[in-house]
Amino acid sequence: AAEAGRDFIRDIVQADVDTGRVRGVVTRFPPEPNGFLHLGHAKSICLNFGVAKEFGGRCHLRFDDTNPVKEEQLFIDSIQRDVRWLGFDWGEHLYHASDYFEQLYDYAEHLIRAGNAYVDDTPPEAMRAQRGTLTEPGQNSPFRTRPVEESLDLFRRMRAGEFPNGARVLRAKIDMASGNMNLRDPVLYRILHARHPRTGDAWAIYPTYDFAHGQSDAIEHITHSICTLEFEDHRPLYDWLIENLPVPSTPHQYEFARLNVTYTVLSKRHLTKLVADGLVSGWDDPRMPTLAGIRRRGVPAAALREFVARVGVARAYSVVDVAMFEAAIRDTLNPTAPRRMAVLRPLKLIIENYPEGQTETLEARNHPDNPDAGTRPLTFGRELYVEQDDFMEHPPKKFFRLSPGKEVRLRWGYLVTCREVVKDAAGTVVALRCTYDPESRGGNAPDGRKVQATLHWLAAADAKPAEIRLYSHLFNRPDPGADGDVLADLNPDSLDVLADALVEPALLDAPVGEAVQFERTGYFAPDPDSQPGRPVFNRTVGLRDTWAK
Ligand code: ATP
Ligand code: MG
Ligand code: MG
Repeated sequence: AAEAGRDFIRDIVQADVDTGRVRGVVTRFPPEPNGFLHLGHAKSICLNFGVAKEFGGRCHLRFDDTNPVKEEQLFIDSIQRDVRWLGFDWGEHLYHASDYFEQLYDYAEHLIRAGNAYVDDTPPEAMRAQRGTLTEPGQNSPFRTRPVEESLDLFRRMRAGEFPNGARVLRAKIDMASGNMNLRDPVLYRILHARHPRTGDAWAIYPTYDFAHGQSDAIEHITHSICTLEFEDHRPLYDWLIENLPVPSTPHQYEFARLNVTYTVLSKRHLTKLVADGLVSGWDDPRMPTLAGIRRRGVPAAALREFVARVGVARAYSVVDVAMFEAAIRDTLNPTAPRRMAVLRPLKLIIENYPEGQTETLEARNHPDNPDAGTRPLTFGRELYVEQDDFMEHPPKKFFRLSPGKEVRLRWGYLVTCREVVKDAAGTVVALRCTYDPESRGGNAPDGRKVQATLHWLAAADAKPAEIRLYSHLFNRPDPGADGDVLADLNPDSLDVLADALVEPALLDAPVGEAVQFERTGYFAPDPDSQPGRPVFNRTVGLRDTWAK
């Protein structure tokens, strides 16, 4: 696996440690519990927990739970499960921004008393108009000069729940002419009569992200508050609040480019919509870029960490090719995934010269490069199944697999030659009549004659029925939503269910979520939908990159 390389964030942290600006490195991963974590979050998790670990510090898991309307316990639980699965541990450092509501409230009163914040009664529409534009300065609210005592009284009554939603807000008093829109008297508190998953009905006002985030960082003694570039313009506000409040430490914010991946949407807003509209089976649908979906597809956590390490950390906006993620999955699975046989679309093959009613046991290796992985028994007999795709009645020149008169090798078994094609009334090929060379057990002819193709197969005597789910990208263009509507770019053929697949018996007790390689076909993992006698497999990733252009 790639070591986490150096990047500008690690350089900054290193410099801060070298100059003694910080003693212990403390970072945090601050998800809002309003959805499941996705690939983009994995980058942030690996960065925050990775930096803390490398510098002997610690990383907090902090729920940024300041918007009770969208937040749910389901999401809180899934986030903890997913961070742990990815291989990181916050130890006892689990926090919630809501733990600081009382302290944040006191900070807000502090700002009011210092003349740095005021209660504004301007209706939202008018307030937006007063804010100005990038080229036009904003206008001061008529409430900006409201006496401190009046703001204090109104703010306390906002807290007490005296006013309806939206009636008033608390704003910082900074500069309505600032070139940075975030400094034009940003809102710090809004009235929201909503039940919070943790604080219940205790609060009728909730802090905004900008007010809660930096102060939570300071309370937790975070040294490096690492976030994505959209927050770059919020940094002056972050610093203004830290400077104007009696906070116990001085955290700094650093920004890096968020992860974007082709054929993928990494935004909780869009992912929520896919789930809510039933366009996927749930947050953990294996086509989803959520960690839960990726895990269900059979991707090991190590492959995700490897991918994130390969992508690296930079400040420049970029879109990563999804093929890079798939390559990391293959490279992670290839050395360890057990090899098995499965026939996705079975075609019967009858060996005419093999004794009727007889079977034999062959030995198949579990991994081509790793003898320690051992072997397993495979049944061979007169009736077998091969892949429909491995036969062509009228093959083009370079087709080396089965066709009339052609000899192929059956993996771990014998050489067989196709003699006759059996069709049903409609002309569909339903079976191949073949002969085998009894001297070729193990796969080689005694006379050394060359056979080009080696096929996977299963014996009818012990092939087990299975359902196999093939996935392709959820979106059918590299930049979903580029024309404005993400849902219009959904790939209608992202799921292909093969209901009549066959697998070898050893696959019946494969652990859910752990990928094996189906020889010549790809990596597959048992799905939790599996029933006794009816396993379901998800294709984790194909063997080759069939998407690269
Ligand atoms: P979304 O846009 O999907 O709603 P978010 O940033 O609102 O994401 P949060 O729960 O607030 O979601 O994110 C927690 C942390 O993960 C934040 O620090 C955020 O910067 C980071 N993060 C979110 N998306 C990405 C991404 N695509 N790449 C890197 N980091 C991300
Ligand atoms: Mg956020
Ligand atoms: Mg968001």
